[in-house]
Amino acid sequence: MSSKTALISVSDKTGIVEFAQSLHALGVRLLSTGGTARLLAEKGLPVTEVAEVTQFPEMLDGRVKTLHPKIHGGLLARRDLPSHVAALKEHGIETIDLLVVNLYPFEATVARPGVTLADAIENIDIGGPAMVRSAAKNWKDVGVITDASQYATVLAELQAGALTAKTRFALSVAAFNRIAQYDAAISNFLSAVELDDSQIDSESYAPARSAFPGQSNASFIKLQDLRYGENPHQQAAFYRDLYPAPGSLVTAQQLQGKELSYNNIADSDAAWECVKSFDVPACVIIKHANPCGVAVGAGAHEAYAKAFQTDPTSAFGGIIAFNRPVDVQTAEAVSKQFVEVLIAPDFSPEALAVFKAKVNVRLLKIALPQGGDTPWSNGRNAQEVKRVGSGILVQSSDNHVLQQADLKVVTAQQPSPEQLQDLLFAWKVAKFVKSNAIVFCKDGMTMGVGAGQMSRLDSARIASIKAEHAKLSLQGTAVASDAFFPFRDGLDVVVDAGASCVIQPGGSMRDQEVIDAANERGVVMVFSGVRHFLH
Ligand code: 5GP
Repeated sequence: MSSKTALISVSDKTGIVEFAQSLHALGVRLLSTGGTARLLAEKGLPVTEVAEVTQFPEMLDGRVKTLHPKIHGGLLARRDLPSHVAALKEHGIETIDLLVVNLYPFEATVARPGVTLADAIENIDIGGPAMVRSAAKNWKDVGVITDASQYATVLAELQAGALTAKTRFALSVAAFNRIAQYDAAISNFLSAVELDDSQIDSESYAPARSAFPGQSNASFIKLQDLRYGENPHQQAAFYRDLYPAPGSLVTAQQLQGKELSYNNIADSDAAWECVKSFDVPACVIIKHANPCGVAVGAGAHEAYAKAFQTDPTSAFGGIIAFNRPVDVQTAEAVSKQFVEVLIAPDFSPEALAVFKAKVNVRLLKIALPQGGDTPWSNGRNAQEVKRVGSGILVQSSDNHVLQQADLKVVTAQQPSPEQLQDLLFAWKVAKFVKSNAIVFCKDGMTMGVGAGQMSRLDSARIASIKAEHAKLSLQGTAVASDAFFPFRDGLDVVVDAGASCVIQPGGSMRDQEVIDAANERGVVMVFSGVRHFLH
């Protein structure tokens, strides 16, 4: 066999004694570091300590054990180069043909609750990865084992004669992969650490923004495992960005209630993002990712009363968000309905007392983003990611905010100030409704929401059916359509239902047909110039 000397240095000693015994039986000379050498010697194996080879004691609490030319020369020297062979001879270095290393348990250490920075640092292996790299680089002459699962394969080949080049190369690749994984674990952990002066000595740490964010390797940090995903047979977890946007859902503090579910979190995000887009007091009720009631009012209480009125049937078991603190009056009103999650920038002590008895209601407190919190503060995170097949789709977030000056009135009839206000409100809501979205509004509240239909016409019909169910009159309402009307039929449906003004992006090849229809029906139409598809 070609492996004459093996260096064994392992933290995880599982299976190492049996493996070393087999190597010994094959006539392989064993070199080893302190702890490993002791274990092998106890089992009666003849083992030479690395310190004996280097003529240098292990020092600095094991920080320096194998970092020595006698070791690295033995691993790195090319056996086919006469100059290398001569150098070994000149310096009295013996070749090492098989390296068996597994590293200090950094990953397991940092996974322990309450781990200190000092513990983590002490578990960064230095000499192990250095030897692994040396051996893996020199794969033509050296076999490198980095995992106990490789013992059996290697042993079988050695017993059959020698490691094949193919196996040595595969071991080398596996070794570099292991090192990359190990370094990523270190980088991820340290990137989430920010030291202040008091922590440097106390050696505890708080995850926070790094001083060198550009050099950070971590992008997500796991917040919690979830009981299950969208359905009970799906596994799920909740991660946050390393640097969350101020006022985003992941910054929430849960004040009471059951653990959040996957669907709770998704719907809470929809509710919070929508309610955040209003400057005046607003309330948003979400069901299955769509708003089933959105309203603004003099305060939280009025906004809720109006939002609830839109679709009381659907509001059952909803996720409700406010952009103003919840007071006792609002809390009492909300507590009359079945609510899954309630989100607000704050809750008065009296409001909290109302929910004390309703232990299942999840209360989330999220600080609203402040003026200076840009660039993300007024929208979703800067980038959105969606999995497709074996790829990902990435896009910047839909942060578009429509200004009144952007509106283009395309009909003969001009909007009244009230209509203009309702149109802008409807447009704001439509952005958060799944496509195709048709939203009827009046006096700062939704009157009928048609969401997620494959045809715009059906969304329009459903929105008016919902208003009928809620016994709301659509006479004189403003309608927002998230994308243009491809034909006049959609417009006719909303005007038949009672709409007096419509906002839509425009841009259809049949715009003129739709504008003519609006003029013919005597309604106002304005173009926003932007589309808000949401899927
Ligand atoms: P042992 O239990 O044999 O004393 O130590 C085995 C561990 O030491 C292995 O995980 C190996 O990767 C690591 N190791 C080997 N040489 C060095 C070194 O020079 N410095 C450090 N920090 N760790 C080393």
